[in-house]
Amino acid sequence: MSTLYPMGSSGTSSTTTYRGRERVCVLLPLPLGPYDYVVPEGGTLRPGDIVTVPLGPRHVTGVVWDAEPGGVEDAKLKEVGERLEVPPLPDGLRHLIDWVADYTLAHPGAVLRMALSTPEAFRPAAPRVVYGPGGPPPPRMTAARKRVLEVIAEGPPRSRAEIAEQAAVSPGVVQGLERAGALSAREVAADAPFAAPDPDAGALKLSQAQGLAAEDLVSKVAARKYSATLLEGVTGSGKTEVYFEAVAEALRQGRESLVLVPEIALTSQWLERFERRFGVRPAEWHSDLGRRERRRVWRAVAEGRAPVVIGARSALFLPFANLGLIVVDEEHDSSFKQEEGVIYNARDMAVVRARDAGAAIALVSATPSLETVVNADTGRFGRVMLPDRHGGAELPRVELLDMRADPPAANHWLSPVLEREIVRTLESDKQSLLFLNRRGYAPLTLCRACGHRLECPNCQAWLVEHRHIRRLQCHHCDHTSPLPTVCPACGAEDKLAACGPGVERLAEEVRALVPTARLVVMASDTIPGPREAAELLRRVRDHEVDILIGTQVVAKGHHFPLLTLVGVVDADLGLAGGDLRAAERTYQLLWQVAGRAGREAHAGQVYLQTYMPDHEVMQGLASGDRGRFLESEQESRRLQGMPPFGRLAALIVSGEDDRAVRVAAQALGQSAPRGEKVQVLGPAPAPFALLRGRHRQRLLLKAGRGVNVQTLLRQWIAATTLPRRVRVQIDVDPYSFM
Ligand code: ADP
Ligand code: ZN
Repeated sequence: MSTLYPMGSSGTSSTTTYRGRERVCVLLPLPLGPYDYVVPEGGTLRPGDIVTVPLGPRHVTGVVWDAEPGGVEDAKLKEVGERLEVPPLPDGLRHLIDWVADYTLAHPGAVLRMALSTPEAFRPAAPRVVYGPGGPPPPRMTAARKRVLEVIAEGPPRSRAEIAEQAAVSPGVVQGLERAGALSAREVAADAPFAAPDPDAGALKLSQAQGLAAEDLVSKVAARKYSATLLEGVTGSGKTEVYFEAVAEALRQGRESLVLVPEIALTSQWLERFERRFGVRPAEWHSDLGRRERRRVWRAVAEGRAPVVIGARSALFLPFANLGLIVVDEEHDSSFKQEEGVIYNARDMAVVRARDAGAAIALVSATPSLETVVNADTGRFGRVMLPDRHGGAELPRVELLDMRADPPAANHWLSPVLEREIVRTLESDKQSLLFLNRRGYAPLTLCRACGHRLECPNCQAWLVEHRHIRRLQCHHCDHTSPLPTVCPACGAEDKLAACGPGVERLAEEVRALVPTARLVVMASDTIPGPREAAELLRRVRDHEVDILIGTQVVAKGHHFPLLTLVGVVDADLGLAGGDLRAAERTYQLLWQVAGRAGREAHAGQVYLQTYMPDHEVMQGLASGDRGRFLESEQESRRLQGMPPFGRLAALIVSGEDDRAVRVAAQALGQSAPRGEKVQVLGPAPAPFALLRGRHRQRLLLKAGRGVNVQTLLRQWIAATTLPRRVRVQIDVDPYSFM
């Protein structure tokens, strides 16, 4: 495990006494330290205690760490401020922080920062005052007062602000009623507790295959020790129902479950299913939570009162002390990889967390990553399979549309076959999904007079036209500008032309084709928030929509009974660029999109528009033979020594001064490690050589499987003199090659 910061778990005390004063080592949520502090007279501190400490002129919240304090003189050390009234950060989480820091070469303080992202939870909250029905209504009634009394009559007691919001009145109106004695006030604990999920509330009768899979996972949870299992099965085969059984077993065992999902898969549909199965909703953890809810969840987990949490990747850093099960749903999803700050893969670190906690982990997917498949093939992970869709629903038929043979009209994007199918589906009162993984109207605007392309001034990237807001946007930084009427390069008027389609433009074409169809566009920028997304999905489910046009936000987890046609407008889109996982990811994404079709009684049909019908990805999708695709993909990675058969780490050198960046990258190139099983590629300009105003160069370290990449990287960086104005980001196991 960590070599930088030895653990205190082997019984060694992490407090040391020097000349009578006890000291501790405190890790701060900053890329500094850890520092030694003196324990206040009469106090005792243990690893994990959350404390405040002086740091220069400031007071900072940190955690007593499992490291030996050094030998600095007492006189130079400051005293710990106070120990906060919150349970200590559990051993397992501290080990994870050290492990992640060691593996990713991030500073442990930077990793700790992710675990301490909710400082408001470190103090017990003052109780809240809530109001319910009280004495007789006041003599002076207004419409506003009447609304408040109506709101109060139904539902539980609530805070003044909540009542005011629900009755659409000012808080003063509630206060007035309170003074008039028409309301009763009561103090309650600040954080409403999470109701206990009932493992036996709404269990479904499982099919035989589902039952066997569930039994396997249940027995692993019951074993109360580490195990890792791949749960593989096509979309709609009941994987969720199966892992719910494992959650039920963890509940029976009195241990906690953490379900990690990609952020956009955390839908109200999933939560409703959980509620049907367990009677109550689980705790949720994601980026849209308000401060109060974040506090509530964090504190509940710290106090062991949140038996089940579903969350996005950062939920891995919640202070669980009694984990029995981790589920990583859609384990292949690249959003488990955090690309900023601490660059880590939550799926891989979840395995580390489970091992440390003696918990079972289930990696769940219809299209598992090659890494996980190889782990299952070699026996490091167990494997359970669900071969069929539940209830005999058929997998959709996938057909390739060769766009070379049957091209659309100029400035159109739908081939004649797909057009015909859209019309036919509409006539038979079913729904269609048209998938195009491109937001906006057009990805490129070009001057027909001089050939100039409109580019972002901060990034080496085209500006994307968004017609509904009449602006150009950069999808890499926040640059936007109005659509110019003359070419900025040659001054020609009315010569700017939109090139290529985005979902908005596709919608225009579909509207012209079937003007009566009820159409919606679903992309991350057309949906303001999760509530609107849920409402949109409800409309689709209730057949208030005929045609859904969407980017990857529609690919995940949704279940639409009447959706029978899926058209992938540009199946080749993800294959461009030199990405190691381009083929794998395209396969996964398109397979998932295809899985939206025909989930119930009605058979589904999927059309992939492609200019490369012979590509292994297209062939694999059309034949439904995923095994063959995986084999050829494995073979090519093996031959190239690429992950999971070799190891990669990327160095991204960036800065505002292009020359300084190039000089630093050259210096890294010169001091690069060499060896039989080690190779360094680059430096070379990154595919986005300018991003958010920073120039970028990349180096790629490629090593054999047995090589300790972390040690190599540490020695490499230490041996290179780098100018201050240049930043070097290290990305171990890179997913993004931009
Ligand atoms: P997956 O997670 O593999 O995509 P789900 O668990 O979402 O599959 O199941 C697909 C659909 O089939 C869901 O609506 C689910 O409730 C239903 N389903 C699965 N198994 C059963 C079962 N044993 N009994 C009743 N409905 C089931
Ligand atoms: Zn930009």
